[in-house]
Amino acid sequence: MFSRILLCARGEIALRIIRACRELGIATVAAYSEADKDAVYLNFADETICIGPGPSDQSYLNIPAIISAAEVSDVEAIHPGYGFLSEVSRFAEVCRSCNVEFIGPSVTAMSQMGDKVKAREIAASTGASIVPGSKGAVETGEQAVEVAHEVNYPVLVKAGLGGGGRGMRVAHNDMSLLNCFAVAQSEAEAAFGSNAVYIEKYITGARHVEIQLLGDHHGNVIHLGDRDCSLQRRHQKLIEEAPCPVLDDTVREKLGQSAIAIAKHINYYGAGTVEFLVDEEGNYYFIEMNCRIQVEHPVTEMVTGVDILREQLRIASGERLSLRQDDINMQGVAIECRINAEDPVTFRPAPGTITKYYPPGGPGVRVDSHAYAGFTISPIYDSLVGKLIVHRRNRREAIACMQRALQEYIIDGIKTTIPLYIEIFDHSAFLSGRIDTKFVENVLDNGGFSNAKTGSGGTETGRTQQATTPQKGGK
Ligand code: ADP
Repeated sequence: MFSRILLCARGEIALRIIRACRELGIATVAAYSEADKDAVYLNFADETICIGPGPSDQSYLNIPAIISAAEVSDVEAIHPGYGFLSEVSRFAEVCRSCNVEFIGPSVTAMSQMGDKVKAREIAASTGASIVPGSKGAVETGEQAVEVAHEVNYPVLVKAGLGGGGRGMRVAHNDMSLLNCFAVAQSEAEAAFGSNAVYIEKYITGARHVEIQLLGDHHGNVIHLGDRDCSLQRRHQKLIEEAPCPVLDDTVREKLGQSAIAIAKHINYYGAGTVEFLVDEEGNYYFIEMNCRIQVEHPVTEMVTGVDILREQLRIASGERLSLRQDDINMQGVAIECRINAEDPVTFRPAPGTITKYYPPGGPGVRVDSHAYAGFTISPIYDSLVGKLIVHRRNRREAIACMQRALQEYIIDGIKTTIPLYIEIFDHSAFLSGRIDTKFVENVLDNGGFSNAKTGSGGTETGRTQQATTPQKGGK
């Protein structure tokens, strides 16, 4: 096992990594930007090192600065967290060439899965069904139209190197496809440094279901079951739960086997996730693989009892997986809400200083957050304030637990997504598990959550007005 690592991450995941390392007796050196100098978790690291100014390209994305920090602090490995350089194969390559282990998969696996066009080909070659669409990247609007006629509208134009729900455009006919194609290409170029785009059929009414994997350097790969991440806005996850509340056991089994086959095919090691869309008929389609720890890993930790961070660190140090597939049992239901510093109506980032902070607790509640009273959510990073996770014996109890935990969570001084979640956890479609990835947008387009429930207007007022301090009785 490593004795000392550098963590090149920030926010709640930096804290999560420090916690795992402390329990394993691994010393941590926390790399931070000037903008994060007051982060409380820095107190829990054994050492800290500043890697540059706030803007990410000068600090958390600055490979020479990070490698120098690793050398100066004499660490054996770097944990990249999620986001930033966690999926940049070039960074993994540089780390390893400097004799510092990159805590993640092989460079080859990262570059194969980082390119979503290649990833589709690889998944298909293992027998996984992929979303019908273009064979490779599509270069012109006319080619895109040809593909759309083969698979039928609506279609999605996606960036080959895309991520984070960005760079996707839905087209319903030739005209809209031709109109958005060139824009999608230039957006992809600007955001991801490559104008490669591809076409997928837009799967209507789909759920997002993903499989958590762990693989070691000795060829062992297991899965830790499924998570449902269908509750999204603009293709980005807001609420995740494990297991998926409506998945047929045969489909569940097939997703697990398919994810393992893909991972084995690319000799995957580390923690990773294979993502699928599952349609109303139970057809499932591979969409991508994330070669890193994911924001929503805690729901899987809660239902399986496996500490994924601990396993990730053990695997990276060369140890064998301590678990076999038969050891994995899912117990109960876990749900996570991403608490974002955002306007709960417009989803616009709402950075600012937290004036009062009181996280919920009690039975079944876990809060992974770096926030505290006086902490400033910076506009230059993502807006995640923390994650509220509950774990109970069944979904009904997990929902009741989440409802009361959301009511208890006090975050004053900034707007957060909590009021939206209070309404979602009161919505009949969500409560019965009958939602798809467009649920939030559909409800908002039809007048909003309060409207859906009461049949009257005024939703927006209800939500914006909500105190940042939740009041008794919620809305
Ligand atoms: P990213 O890497 O940007 O997160 P993904 O391919 O993982 O992109 O997709 C993110 C989300 O976008 C999915 O969870 C789903 O809501 C939506 N999506 C992606 N592909 C499709 C598709 N072919 N049909 C319908 N929705 C899709």
